[in-house]
Amino acid sequence: MKCLPHACKAYASGSAGTAFTNLITHLLAAQCLITEPWPQDHSYGLSDGQHFDFIIIGSGAGSVLANRLSEVEGWKVLLIEAGSDPPMESIVPNYASATFQSRNSYPYYTEPGENFCRGCIDQITFWPRGKALGGTSSINGMLYMRGSPGDYEKWHLEEGDGWDWPTLKEYFKKSEKMVDPFILNNPELRKEHGTDGEFIVDQLNFTHGDIADRLTNAYKEMGLKYLDDLNGPSQLGVGKLRGGIHKGRRVSTATAFLNPISKRKNLYVIKHTFVHQIEFDKEKKATGVKVTLIYGESQFFFARKEIIISGGTVNTPKILMYSGIGPKKRLRDLKIKVLSDLPVGKNLQDHVRIPIPITLDTGAERRGEEFWQKAAAQYLIDQTGPHATNYDQPNINAFLSVPDGKTLPDVQIDHNYFVPNTSHVATMCEKVMFYNESICKQFVDWNSDKELLFVLVSLCRPHSRGEINIRFENTIEHPIIHPRYFSDKRDMETFVKALKRVSEIVKTPTFKDMKAELKRIKFEGCDDLEFESDEYWECMARTVTYHVFHPVGTAKMGKPDDPEAVVDSRLRVYGVKGLRVVDASVMPTIPSVNIQAAVMMIAERAADFIKEDHLKSQNETVTKDEL
Ligand SMILES: Cc1cc2nc3c(=O)[nH]c(=O)nc-3n(C[C@H](O)[C@H](O)[C@H](O)COP(=O)(O)OP(=O)(O)OC[C@H]3O[C@@H](n4cnc5c(N)ncnc54)[C@H](O)[C@@H]3O)c2cc1C
Repeated sequence: MKCLPHACKAYASGSAGTAFTNLITHLLAAQCLITEPWPQDHSYGLSDGQHFDFIIIGSGAGSVLANRLSEVEGWKVLLIEAGSDPPMESIVPNYASATFQSRNSYPYYTEPGENFCRGCIDQITFWPRGKALGGTSSINGMLYMRGSPGDYEKWHLEEGDGWDWPTLKEYFKKSEKMVDPFILNNPELRKEHGTDGEFIVDQLNFTHGDIADRLTNAYKEMGLKYLDDLNGPSQLGVGKLRGGIHKGRRVSTATAFLNPISKRKNLYVIKHTFVHQIEFDKEKKATGVKVTLIYGESQFFFARKEIIISGGTVNTPKILMYSGIGPKKRLRDLKIKVLSDLPVGKNLQDHVRIPIPITLDTGAERRGEEFWQKAAAQYLIDQTGPHATNYDQPNINAFLSVPDGKTLPDVQIDHNYFVPNTSHVATMCEKVMFYNESICKQFVDWNSDKELLFVLVSLCRPHSRGEINIRFENTIEHPIIHPRYFSDKRDMETFVKALKRVSEIVKTPTFKDMKAELKRIKFEGCDDLEFESDEYWECMARTVTYHVFHPVGTAKMGKPDDPEAVVDSRLRVYGVKGLRVVDASVMPTIPSVNIQAAVMMIAERAADFIKEDHLKSQNETVTKDEL
């Protein structure tokens, strides 16, 4: 904005003055409307020692469960959330990353990597997790991806366990409300989707459409198939993304599953409340939780039927271990009484990825302050434009296998595109990718007069397994996170092959037309290696190690004889009673795609297990049709 040479009298009369003043009033009012009808906080009305039928810890997957369990009118359900209502930055899609370093996130960091993250600050990487209603679904990238049957084969342990693909597909569809007209108007595509669920899935393509088209063409020139729907039977190919953004606002598990039922009399949501541990009776039955309320007051709440932990992959193992469920040795070292000796925190998996930096010249111009002011006004007026889309990015994805022809993809490819001189490049590099100053400076320099594209390649099904552990006796301490990226050499073999294949995108006619240049990241230890050789790509993978924020598996579902299993196929914790885990930590293996849809599916699946287990013998009524 320019400074005015004279003081400006704001006109509030005359037809032009009135129109402009009305606009300003409208914009101010519009900002106040960017909120959601979050459920009331019941913590003030509850008393110490109060009883419920079910206690759910955490409102990510927990929001889905809270909805389904409170459908039973006779059940009193308590949902405990450590965070509070999501802020405006969560609702407005383009501001998602502003939540990562805020009170709405747990700012977790991994331990220093020996063979990865060499170019990261202190050789560690940033793992934010959501701390708000909706959990991580309130801070995430909003992509809705389901994966394909092969992703869930290892989850199906035996006949009749309810984890076969046809059953899972129905549970995916149960939550989903597909509204993208392109899908709805095509009967073949439509039949793959749910249309009556709570979680709205829409198109995401509102910005950088030209770049999205060019990327799509380039992948087609590389031989990839165009897919009308990346949530169809296979992901191998290239296509447009869909996700949880509707009418310019984020759809989270809280907006979808909690807000519409906030008036249910049998559901009690308490916010700003931290669960330290689960209480057990002499028969090892989970009876209650010890919490700290917002002003530091300790209380206990009790569950007649069950306690369900939905704290997410990092926090669930913490809660379990502080409650005496975990590796015996570690618990004893910390003087925690062992109730069940289980491999909690092991089996950690994540989608590791790195950016391939490419400069482009399509003639795109820098977006200055004026551009972003107009974008803000556009968003306030009708919730469209760059702020209405996730990270202001071209929303297409590609998936390929190396060699071609496998049933499941080896890598998922997404993209970050920046017009010249984008200030966000530096912020993202330092604060999110967590790379060191020298690497970030190279990115900024490349972007100073050219467009910069990060082709982000992530490994779909890693073999490497990491581990999460508690650090001290104190329950609020951040845990020790060892992701152990690339510790299994099969991962690096596949990844290097994929990086070589994907980087060939610069040779396509479409990329040549954009004057694409593959950039070499300078880093001591990689500089002497031949550019684009296997050794160079391996060095890059171990240097600019990044990830897709998808940790899973730390309370693995498995059979009783599986030494890695923490919960059974009905998600009940082994060795104790009345306790389940329902979140991303139960995944035995990570699906090839983004995982939030699978987390909601797990919660839907679990809700029916719980209803089956508790409604059989009783006369309690379900108010909504079950699956
Ligand atoms: C930056 C980012 C981008 C992502 N992008 C995508 C994407 O585009 N698409 C996709 O599919 N997936 C994405 N993901 C992953 C996905 O969002 C998560 O895997 C998923 O939401 C996890 O759900 P959850 O229920 O397992 O855990 P969470 O959603 O993390 O829920 C756990 C909840 O439990 C609460 N809690 C934890 N401990 C306690 C305690 N002791 N007391 C009380 N409450 C507690 C937390 O505050 C939190 O609300 C992304 C993740 C991140 C971080």
